[in-house]
Amino acid sequence: MAEPTELLALARMFGDTVLERWERLVSLETPSADAGRAAVFGKELAAGLAATADRIEHPSGPGGDHLVAYWNGRGTPSPSPSPDGGSRTGHTLLVAHSDTVFEAGTIARRPFTLDEDGDTVTGPGVFDMKGSLVAVELAMDLLSRTGAAPRRPVRLVVVNDEEIGSPDGARLVARHAEGAHAVLGLEPPLPGGALKIGRRGVARIRLSVRGVSAHAGLDAALGVSAIDELVDQLASLRATAASLPDAALNVGTITGGTRANVVADHAQAEIGLRYATPETEQALLKAVLEPTPVRERAALSTRTLSHRPAWAMDPANPLAAELVALAGTLGLELPLGSSGGAGDTNLTGALGIPTVDGLGPAGAGAHGEDEHASLSSLLERAALLAAFLESH
Ligand SMILES: [Zn+2]
Repeated sequence: MAEPTELLALARMFGDTVLERWERLVSLETPSADAGRAAVFGKELAAGLAATADRIEHPSGPGGDHLVAYWNGRGTPSPSPSPDGGSRTGHTLLVAHSDTVFEAGTIARRPFTLDEDGDTVTGPGVFDMKGSLVAVELAMDLLSRTGAAPRRPVRLVVVNDEEIGSPDGARLVARHAEGAHAVLGLEPPLPGGALKIGRRGVARIRLSVRGVSAHAGLDAALGVSAIDELVDQLASLRATAASLPDAALNVGTITGGTRANVVADHAQAEIGLRYATPETEQALLKAVLEPTPVRERAALSTRTLSHRPAWAMDPANPLAAELVALAGTLGLELPLGSSGGAGDTNLTGALGIPTVDGLGPAGAGAHGEDEHASLSSLLERAALLAAFLESH
């Protein structure tokens, strides 16, 4: 049994080790869906986790290998997910990703740097979310150094395609969420270090229209303009989105037609949707996926390019309350909030599994040039994580 304050005091002795490790993980660049770089990074991450983990797997995906690490609970070996599903393994699931939004080569221009204040760290992916991966390694190390162990079995899933919507990683997260007692997302926190207890869902849908081409001057009546039809559809969808609570619709791209004197026989748009509740999600998706043509001879078709369900915020989230109380014993204030962006925890939150996200170290500027994160926060988050896994 390790006291939370003991874990925090110990964590604060590892600042230099953490910086070295953080730099190493940031220097190994991981643009999404780069299988070669994902493999190199996965090997490095596994080498670090192997110091404490009971088992590590590298499930393969189209964008390269993901990583899953298992720790036994006190006296309980960590079971593998059952192939037929349905087992209550009661584990704690940690959800993370290894990929970043940055192109390979960014590190040469913008290397990992510790600011003069001795706390602020910059570099591609320091905040989203290489720092979180370092925090997990440290948390497990803190437990092992104090002779403690997680109360329940723990699983860490690190997907390599989160930044492009987890086209493959989502399946892995779903598989390992099965039977989970609680899910902790290691995404960066909200401004001020706030945890996320709800996330808007997002979907990307392509709407295509087939019309009939004709000479725009001589035979206009014979034609059916795919562009006119698309414009009418988009106007109607915009009105639907405006009428729904917490819904947003953005037409991101639009293409179609050939020239001004030809009635266009094809047009399409890529539509981005955001929604905060399952009710709005359902109404919005129905409107976009089941459109009724305005023009009889126009043919409409849709394709869902990606979809993350809404994780509606519950201010009484008991898992969050537990984390806030535990942080209090460490003298840390932990605000709560809801996120406008979506991630892999949308899935577990929407399934009703107790979920909290934003447990990564505090910082700001994710996906941008001024991305930065705090070393002291990383040490605190590692201690919090260790204390939670030990007691929960
Ligand atoms: Zn992220």
